[in-house]
Amino acid sequence: MKRFLIFLAFTLSLLSLVSCGGEQNCEHSFISSVTKEPICIEVGEQLYTCSKCEYSYTEAIAANHNIENGFCTECKLPESTPGLKYSKNADGTYTVTGIGDCQETSISIGIYEDSYVTSIGNYAFEYCTRLTSVTIGNSVTSIGEYAFWNCTSLKSVTIPNSVKSIGECAFRDCTSLTSVTIPDSVTSIGDAAFYDCTSLTSVTIGNSVTRIGNWAFYGCNSLTSVTIGNSVTSIGSSAFRGCTSLASVTIPNSVTTIEDYAFGYCRSLTSVTIGNGVTSIGYDAFYRCTSLTSVTFENPDGWWVASSSDATSGTSITGLSDASTAAEYLRSNDGYYLRRG
Ligand SMILES: [Zn+2]
Ligand SMILES: [Zn+2]
Repeated sequence: MKRFLIFLAFTLSLLSLVSCGGEQNCEHSFISSVTKEPICIEVGEQLYTCSKCEYSYTEAIAANHNIENGFCTECKLPESTPGLKYSKNADGTYTVTGIGDCQETSISIGIYEDSYVTSIGNYAFEYCTRLTSVTIGNSVTSIGEYAFWNCTSLKSVTIPNSVKSIGECAFRDCTSLTSVTIPDSVTSIGDAAFYDCTSLTSVTIGNSVTRIGNWAFYGCNSLTSVTIGNSVTSIGSSAFRGCTSLASVTIPNSVTTIEDYAFGYCRSLTSVTIGNGVTSIGYDAFYRCTSLTSVTFENPDGWWVASSSDATSGTSITGLSDASTAAEYLRSNDGYYLRRG
C-alpha cells in the first residue's frame, strides 16, 4: 500500500509539473498500467503513457514477498531470523555475515528486507555453540569458509539444491551433526569441510561434485555409509582418513584419482570397489585398513607400482582380478603409488 501511494504521488506530481515531452506544447496526461507484475525475487514494471502525445516512460515496481508464518507464500523462502547481520552484494542481494554473540538455538536464512540472501559469509556462525538447527533458503548459492566451524550443538542442516559450493572447513568440528546430504547443485566440497564431524553417520554426495577436497571427512569416526555420486573425478588426500566405522565404499567409474591417505586408517573397511575410471591410487591411500579383505577392481589390468608420484613406469602388478589379492595390495601399499596405463 505504501509503495502504491508513493507511485500515486509521483504520478500526480508529474501530471502537474511536467509540461512538455515528446510533443511540443503538450501538457502530459499520463495513463499508467502494470506491464510486468513483480514477483518475490524479481522487480516488476509500470508503464506511463501520455494520452495526448507519444511520450512514455517506465518505472520499476519493487519485488515484494508475502510473508505468512515465517515463509513467503510465493517463493517459499524463509524470513531471515531477526538480528542477523548482512553485507549487501552488488546485485542487491545479501551475504549474511553473523548474528552478534550468537545465543540463538535456531536460525533461518532467506529473505531480508525486500531482497534475499545468496551467500553465507566466511566465519559467519563459527563457535555458535548453542545452535541446534539451521534453515537455509534455496536462494543461497554458497556457504563460505568456516561458516559453521565449531557449531558443536548443530544436529541438522539441510543444504538446499541451490548451493554450488561448500567452503573450506565450512562444517568443521560440528560434532553433533548426524547426517548430511550434498545436493546435486553442489560442484565442490572444500578442504576439511566436514573435518572431525564425529557424530556423522551417513553422507550422500550428489551428482555434480567433481572433487572431494583434501581432509573433507577426516576423522568422521561414526561414518558408516558414504554414497559418492557418479560425477566425482578425484578424492582428495586424507578425504576419509580415520573414518574408523566405514565398512564398505564404492568408488564410482567417474573417479580417476584417489589421492594420498584418502582412506587411510579406515580400520573397519572390509570391502572396496574401485571403478573402472581409476588410473591413480595415491601413497598410503588405504594405509592401515587392517580389515580390508575384498577389493573389486572394475578394471584389473594394466596396473603397475610407482615408487614416486611422478614416475612414468614401474613394476607391473598381476592378480588384481582376485579380490583378496587386490585387498592385500591396497592394505600394504605403504610408501608407493599404484598406477594404471
Ligand atoms: Zn504528452
Ligand atoms: Zn517471496
